[in-house]
Amino acid sequence: MDSTLILHQCLAEWRGACDKLRKGRNIKNTITRVHAVSFAYGQRHHRELDFAARYLEGLGKVTHQIVHLDFDWLRCSLLRSHRGFNPDETPVIPGRNSIMISIAASIAMERGSQMVFIGCNKTDWEVFPDCRPLYMRAINEVTLLQGGIHLIAPLIGMTKKDIVEAGKQYNIDWSKTWSCYKGEKEPCDECAACKERTKAGV
Ligand SMILES: [Zn+2]
Repeated sequence: MDSTLILHQCLAEWRGACDKLRKGRNIKNTITRVHAVSFAYGQRHHRELDFAARYLEGLGKVTHQIVHLDFDWLRCSLLRSHRGFNPDETPVIPGRNSIMISIAASIAMERGSQMVFIGCNKTDWEVFPDCRPLYMRAINEVTLLQGGIHLIAPLIGMTKKDIVEAGKQYNIDWSKTWSCYKGEKEPCDECAACKERTKAGV
């Protein structure tokens, strides 16, 4: 069975997520291949793609595809097309997960996959409407109807702090991950991603 994975946030969540899923659902050995999908959508923090590629290389046996999108109709300051970065502006990019999940499901169908994983978590619920359980259930119905693709969000009930805690048993090296929305050489410590990361204990 092949598995297609959406990665646009924290790569390290994946390893813990897959192990948790295997244990929880007793589907050990059913996932034989993993194909990771990242998105270059004009984000300031495109460094996350370099971090993703390096992390996946270290895992081995994971193919990685970067899908290029153009969100130039949006004026969100998280995008490079917007003139300035404002750490206090909402990080919500309208429709982002609907677009990315649809593309990942299309890739999964083409590859003969049956599952798409996404790393949405409980900390995201408050701000991002497309990370909430109701949304996930609804779009899972769509991907199932569309092509028999199960959308799986194994971290949906965990806060980022929980994830960091769970990562200890998998020896996750968080220094190999990137969160800052500003996307400069060093994290800005001001944006929502930096603040959440600090709160989570990274
Ligand atoms: Zn930041």
